[in-house]
Amino acid sequence: MEIPNIKEIFELIKKGATIEAQQKIIELKETIISLQEENLKLKGENLSLQQQIELSEKGERCPKCRKGIWNLIKSEPHSTFGRLGVLERTYKCSECGFTEEHIFDPHKE
Ligand SMILES: [Zn+2]
Repeated sequence: MEIPNIKEIFELIKKGATIEAQQKIIELKETIISLQEENLKLKGENLSLQQQIELSEKGERCPKCRKGIWNLIKSEPHSTFGRLGVLERTYKCSECGFTEEHIFDPHKE
């Protein structure tokens, strides 16, 4: 993208070439607008990348919506196999609230 030179515009004004100067100013404004749009787009991309990094650092994603974080909210001995060390773990999504229970058997891990 070629950005019109300010000095060039001043030179044109000094010479009295106002129409050419105005043309350059319009080009300059268009350039600024497209740069602002590009900047906005990049900021948006940057934000979503940051969110992705945060999510990947925090842990697993929800198996239902794939957006929320899959949090372990409860872990207690299994009603039948608790004595054998088997745990019943409940996970909950931070976004959609979906919950699921998992049987955790330390002997199988
Ligand atoms: Zn979810």
